[in-house]
Amino acid sequence: MATETKNLHRKGESFIPTHCSYCGMQCGMNIRVDDATGNVVGIEPRYEWPVNQGRLCPKGVTAYQQVEHPDRILHPLIKRNGKFVEASWEEAYDLIERKFKEIATKYGKDALGVYGGVSMTNEKCYLVGKYARVALGTKHIDYNGRYCMSSAAGGFNATLGMDRGSTLPWPDLLHSDCFFLAGSNTAECHPTSITWFWRGRDRGAKLIVADPRETPTARIADVHLDLKPGTDSALANGIAHILIKAGYVDNEYVAQRVNGFEDLEKMVERFTPEYTSRLTGVAQEKIIKAAHMYGEAEKSVVMFARGVEQQRKGVDNVGSYTNLALIRGQIGKFASGVATFTGQGNGQGGREHGQKADLLPGYRKLTDPKAVQYISQVWGIDPAEMPGPGVSAYEMLDSIHQGTVRAMHVICSNPAVSSPNAQHVWKALEKLEFLVVNDFFLSETAEFADVVLPTTTWAEDEGTTTNTEGRVIKINRIRKPAGESKPDWQILSEIAARMDRGKHFEYENAEQIFNELRVASKGGKADYYGITYEKIEKQQGVFWPCPDLDHPGTPYVYQDSFPTPDGKANLRVVDWQEAGEIQSKEFPEILTTGRVVFHYLSGNQTRRIDFLMEKCPEPYAEMHPEMASKYNLQDGEEVELETRRAKMKLKVRLTKAIRKDTVFVPYHWGKELSINQLTNPCLDPVSRMPEFKVCAVRLRKS
Ligand code: SF4
Repeated sequence: MATETKNLHRKGESFIPTHCSYCGMQCGMNIRVDDATGNVVGIEPRYEWPVNQGRLCPKGVTAYQQVEHPDRILHPLIKRNGKFVEASWEEAYDLIERKFKEIATKYGKDALGVYGGVSMTNEKCYLVGKYARVALGTKHIDYNGRYCMSSAAGGFNATLGMDRGSTLPWPDLLHSDCFFLAGSNTAECHPTSITWFWRGRDRGAKLIVADPRETPTARIADVHLDLKPGTDSALANGIAHILIKAGYVDNEYVAQRVNGFEDLEKMVERFTPEYTSRLTGVAQEKIIKAAHMYGEAEKSVVMFARGVEQQRKGVDNVGSYTNLALIRGQIGKFASGVATFTGQGNGQGGREHGQKADLLPGYRKLTDPKAVQYISQVWGIDPAEMPGPGVSAYEMLDSIHQGTVRAMHVICSNPAVSSPNAQHVWKALEKLEFLVVNDFFLSETAEFADVVLPTTTWAEDEGTTTNTEGRVIKINRIRKPAGESKPDWQILSEIAARMDRGKHFEYENAEQIFNELRVASKGGKADYYGITYEKIEKQQGVFWPCPDLDHPGTPYVYQDSFPTPDGKANLRVVDWQEAGEIQSKEFPEILTTGRVVFHYLSGNQTRRIDFLMEKCPEPYAEMHPEMASKYNLQDGEEVELETRRAKMKLKVRLTKAIRKDTVFVPYHWGKELSINQLTNPCLDPVSRMPEFKVCAVRLRKS
């Protein structure tokens, strides 16, 4: 792969190409390493990398500061008398082996739970699934992507027959004529993507943004659909109504490639602009303007993110927006299609390789006997040993209260901050008889642990991730692991050996695991068999599916057919439903949550970076001045927010760029600053995604 940059190499430094550790853009960067010390001293963007083309956001430019950060955990820690003390790896493993075996013997293997994450490489994500099922023998495994990508997965599976987050490569966006962004504050959450829209607009493309807030993304839109939180499927149905009535349907495409059009037509008949406006709060003229703008575009892309997905009907929302692209005949074509922005770095790959409660590698289903047979053979176990499907992330944490799960291994994840109804989750973590956490900083979850195992950062190991486009890319090792830290794959393999399953985990490096993953995924929907480290380097990444070594990969999916039984996509014909909690006399306002540009997810990494903390040190309650005046609140004053679950105090931040009935709070902080104390754990029936984005709240001046 070309690694030339426009940067000047400084004397005495090497540049090592890799990718940012944070969001699903996985922007290309070179890490600057001091040749004399081997220390990481900085980052430069990669100009030749197709996704970011020389751009990085504030998180990306400071990501390197994690590597040598003084807060790094450098030795295993064991809690003794309520305090962590340094221990040897042997001591830590002895304790883990004893406790896991004791608990499994006493309560059964399903009393052990594994909670994974998708900020890890594909190799590690794959191994987490195998570790749970083969080393621990438990069905209780799920991961933090449940809170992030599961509704997109459910919606895409239901409509398109497969869960690849983007149907097109990102550089195509330069040639699209219209972008319909729903529930994505791209400018703050995936900042390097916003330039694709700016550049598209420079050549006349239109931008439609559906968001309750006038975010920096909505501010540059041609039409801002300022919908009431929780009304996405109503809005999408209303747009579909106009597309059908105004003759924008691609009849030939629909006849040949799409099922369910008559049902959709009938169902959206009542979603007139007037009715849709009443449900969503968006002015009729704006709905009509947006529908015509989208309908007239020759090449258009519908894109969405957590605003649409983190709802109790997130799958329906994704399906309803995907319907628009299908009836316009836009999927499987150049510069057109549908995409979701992946939140976590490996949010795409991390959901493909078996970390989900019901899935095996390659998106195989645990309920499919042939899939169980195949993966058992790859793993060298008897199919009868394969545990069945478990439960979703929040349900697994909740099950601790019932005594179902008694010990847990949390791997590079921070559910104490990222879970809804957080106080309930904290109590669950306290109740565990034994908790092991792998991390490189002491997260809020790690503070509950009995044993903390120090892991490497992304710069200290190699492997692959799969970016938001579905492009499999290579993360390179920059320096040796800090202190006694080890890569997660090594830690899991060593614990597997302690659990007498070592022969299934004999790896010397990440590439060996990747080669096993390739075989495990072979023939599955997410087929990586034809992808090698060498091919990734040579081709600037390889898009899956890539079923054999001669295959170049698949930048455009669904060009000829959809991976469904009849080869056709299925429109998701769903009426609209209220949010799980609606405003009432007692709780008269709406609370929604989201990200800010300076922080990443639970903040465990970004809250340690001085520059990012200077820019955004604490959460706040953003509200319209008219809402504030109802409660006699001024900018900067303290307000108490209370939902049916908990209450907390935050500083008021006034803005006219939000609906008058909605309060927004960013979610990157823990403990008493965690807004997830207040959020609703009501789950989507298909994806089991909690409804982070909408709940009813009351305000009080404190
Ligand atoms: Fe990193 Fe995402 Fe920022 Fe790119 S956009 S630099 S991947 S955080």
